[in-house]
Amino acid sequence: MTAAALVTALSTGFVLAVVAFFVLARIPFVAALGHWSVAKLGIGDRIPAAIGVAAGVVVVALLAAAIRRFVLAGRDLAVAAVTCRQLGPAADGLVVVQDERPDAYTLPSGLSGRVVVSTAMLRALPAGERRVLLAHEASHLRHRHHLYVQIVELAAAANPLLRPVAAAVRAAIERWADEDAAEEVCDRRLAARALARAGLARSGSLPGVALAAAASAVSDRARALLGEPPRRRRGLALAVTAITVVALAASAETAKDTDHQFEIAKAAYIRTQAGIRPVACTVAALRVAGAEDVPRWTTSIRRSCDSRWPLIA
Ligand SMILES: [Zn+2]
Repeated sequence: MTAAALVTALSTGFVLAVVAFFVLARIPFVAALGHWSVAKLGIGDRIPAAIGVAAGVVVVALLAAAIRRFVLAGRDLAVAAVTCRQLGPAADGLVVVQDERPDAYTLPSGLSGRVVVSTAMLRALPAGERRVLLAHEASHLRHRHHLYVQIVELAAAANPLLRPVAAAVRAAIERWADEDAAEEVCDRRLAARALARAGLARSGSLPGVALAAAASAVSDRARALLGEPPRRRRGLALAVTAITVVALAASAETAKDTDHQFEIAKAAYIRTQAGIRPVACTVAALRVAGAEDVPRWTTSIRRSCDSRWPLIA
């Protein structure tokens, strides 16, 4: 889901940018700068200017939101890394802090991090439930769940329609860690009890990028632990993969078509500037017009010239 969300966000941003660019390229000043013939921009003529402007505004706003999210995530990760260094080395990444507030969370640092547990939380749980809690946090650390969360949050910032997907990914990694913890202690009821007790005991807020066992949807997760382990849903995984591949393919095709369209428009511009007719579409004329990459433009001109007049190299 995280990869699908990222690809979807990039694809939608790219398509919006292409729509806006086609309209922007029709402005005579911009067309002159880019050496494009406005008359040969093809599909660009059929995009209403209002749609292009709206797409441009949206893509700039979404890009700004994504950059802001990226900067905030970088700052939070840097703060977490500094905190981990201050906590010092720890066996298996576990750090017990003297604190009267019951808390337990995973603090990422690069590709590793620390599991931080307060003495009050350890006192609040019986021995078996402590094992569950630590196994849950260790699962977050081992599978680098913070990366899934940061990437999907970035995708949701770049495309707000993906916010439900970001929430689903957050919920899924908690369930993933819950299942790992239940498997570790071989007792699903014990895992559910530990989660419920830690949820009741927990207090306070967490550092920005921390992941905590008992911070969200505790009752739903405890109920899930009282049921059967989840089955692998291969059909759903295949569907998500298919959507991702389709989005990638559509973006690649859009990029190819756009490049082709602008090549034609550029070739037509060069032809116009050289004051030549299609019959005189020669490489020599291109050189006169100052085309830097003659072999590349011959392909475009070959496409744009009347087929009755073969290209003279
Ligand atoms: Zn957790």
